[in-house]
Amino acid sequence: MNRKYRKTVIAANWKMNKTPSETKAFLTEFKNKLPRSRWCDIVFCVPAIDISAAVRAMRETRVAIGAENCNAAASGAYTGEISTGMIVDAGCKYVIIGHSERRAMGETDAEVNAKVLAALGAGLHPILCVGESLEQREMGVTEEWIAMQLKAALQGVTEDQMKKIVIAYEPIWAIGTGKTATPEQAEEVCCAIRTMIRKRYSAKIGRAVTIQYGGSMNEKNAFELLAQPDIDGGLIGGASLDTDKFLAIINAANQPTA
Ligand code: PEP
Repeated sequence: MNRKYRKTVIAANWKMNKTPSETKAFLTEFKNKLPRSRWCDIVFCVPAIDISAAVRAMRETRVAIGAENCNAAASGAYTGEISTGMIVDAGCKYVIIGHSERRAMGETDAEVNAKVLAALGAGLHPILCVGESLEQREMGVTEEWIAMQLKAALQGVTEDQMKKIVIAYEPIWAIGTGKTATPEQAEEVCCAIRTMIRKRYSAKIGRAVTIQYGGSMNEKNAFELLAQPDIDGGLIGGASLDTDKFLAIINAANQPTA
């Protein structure tokens, strides 16, 4: 982390977990335990059906709510989908885009790009996920792969719009597997992502962009991961479903930075 230049963002990705009533109960408990000090920005990205309950539970707190996906179209015949306008109107500030679980369901780079542009157009902060498979890592093409994902996802994104984007580096082999990237492995890629952003935009944008690590981050490994200079937060799945574990990760963001 480097709090001098950029925001630290700790975001939960609940995936397909918790009902609206469970959301209300969980976030009420979380709110009561949340320390007053502000070490980082906190976001809960929740299933679409839980957004209203989450927004209501977190009203008048510093915690933001996000969606886990969006459709790039403004409206129309897309059964089961939700638009960025709907997400904003429901009270969200963030939306996860390009999560590997959605890419595995067939989401293409072009769709990720269209969603990023739609989210920015609606005033949302996209949490743009990129990451390599185990096979790609073993072949030594991690950085090339991520450069390609970023190039595609950021097509048409202006320097000004880039200020709203959070990038989440999520090695696919570490998501939900309990296999975390070592702090060195995660730092190496997050640093490379920052260099890519600096080259594409400017030194100022490269320095300011928040880059999260995601992949089995938990209460035990968060401190060391967040101590890396280019890791500005986490996107957390499993450990965000437990108030104490998620709060421990938030507490790990309370450490001196360079
Ligand atoms: C994720 O879903 O983005 C994620 C990082 O999950 P987990 O923390 O469970 O690996």
